[in-house]
Amino acid sequence: MRCPFCRHADSRVVDSREVDEGQAIRRRRSCSACGRRFTTSETMVLAVVKRSGVTEQFSRDKVVRGVRRACQGRPVDDDALQKLAQQVEESIRATGVAEIPSHEVGLAILGPLRELDAVAYLRFASVYRSFSSIEDFEAEIKNLREAIAESESSAQQDHSD
Ligand SMILES: [Zn+2]
Repeated sequence: MRCPFCRHADSRVVDSREVDEGQAIRRRRSCSACGRRFTTSETMVLAVVKRSGVTEQFSRDKVVRGVRRACQGRPVDDDALQKLAQQVEESIRATGVAEIPSHEVGLAILGPLRELDAVAYLRFASVYRSFSSIEDFEAEIKNLREAIAESESSAQQDHSD
């Protein structure tokens, strides 16, 4: 990395420390030509492997775009979508993998999206799980009803305590 002051190509690391719970490293460098100091930051690149085998960097924006389509006409605002994309990235990074197949990104979206909006979830799931029949929808709706009932009954228990 070139010195931002004199453009010299060589620098010495004088300090490095982990930030963002070990997801990134920040280094303090000293230019060996002019002696001035600057800071660089290294983040682990989370790569998404597409079906074609091509890898690209994980992008929250891409998650937002994909989910926004499923949310058309639903009461889901941009803040909620940004938060969902952040949850998806955090859950993938928490698994500790450096590369993830693109369909698994889709699966990581399903959980948080179900919490956010049931209709958007069904639309999204129908594409990602390639629903091919009405039965697929029926089975998914049944699962969804059970999950909602479960979270409601646990919410009621919380309330009665
Ligand atoms: Zn310099």
